[in-house]
Amino acid sequence: MDEKEIRSYEHAGKIAAKAIAYGMDIIHEGMPVLELCERIETYIFNSGGRPAFPCNVSINEVAAHYTARPNDELTIPKGSLVKLDLGVHVDGFIADTAVSIAFSQDLHSLCDVAKKALENAINSIRPGTPISKIGALIERTIKSYGFKPVSNLTGHKITKWTLHAGKSIPNVFNPDDKAHILEGEVYAIEPFATNGNGYVTESETITIYRYVGGKVKGKEEKALIKIIWRKYKSLPFCERWLLKDIPDFQSKVKHFHNLLNHGNVYGYPVLVERRGSFVSQYEHTVIVLKDGPLVITKI
Ligand code: MN
Ligand code: MN
Repeated sequence: MDEKEIRSYEHAGKIAAKAIAYGMDIIHEGMPVLELCERIETYIFNSGGRPAFPCNVSINEVAAHYTARPNDELTIPKGSLVKLDLGVHVDGFIADTAVSIAFSQDLHSLCDVAKKALENAINSIRPGTPISKIGALIERTIKSYGFKPVSNLTGHKITKWTLHAGKSIPNVFNPDDKAHILEGEVYAIEPFATNGNGYVTESETITIYRYVGGKVKGKEEKALIKIIWRKYKSLPFCERWLLKDIPDFQSKVKHFHNLLNHGNVYGYPVLVERRGSFVSQYEHTVIVLKDGPLVITKI
């Protein structure tokens, strides 16, 4: 990775770090989730970045993939645990970061453990670190506090314009994983901890989408894909964005559903802890340099 690429990642990372701080500053019990998502995304635009995906606000047992829908009436519940997860890109260089906010004293330790697991994981990163070692560290840290890591959610390698670029960083030890961290790679590390049994399942709800490719049938459908590609490439997007970016989208919803049904667009199901238990998460994006990790999503 050359200096210029590192600078671009750092630029995206700084904006992401400031946007998370802004989100933590404005969030409060009773706040409409729609307002929170829109204010954070506007903040990212005004800071010179672009959201790399819709702002995720995942509450309590919801682990990931929830963003406000148009006219969403959901508000931040009293005493809840909120995961605020956001991405920023600058010309396709992506930074992905998340924090947990607990509105109840009882939930602080569950949040702290995810943060501690993230710190330990980041400190272990060098060129050549076995990926299984990172998973083991995350698992051991979370279990040492009496909680469980979520074993079917992972961190991920990032490349330009690609949020999930193949390699995964699990939150548990997997002896069969023989992959190593390599110099110049970029990773989002994201431990998830729970007071449940450690698995998330897909719910019926979908709020986030992504263009995945394939032959597109229909004139209207092709026109929609053209705008989606121009605006988001293959990064995730949501209905709120389509309403803003596509003239008269309301009348084209049928064609959008055709794209979903034909598999040109993928819908991410909202992920929920299997037993309905609380889930916490922290996330940073790091560049693997010769001497160790450069955390780009810290202020
Ligand atoms: Mn994230
Ligand atoms: Mn991520």
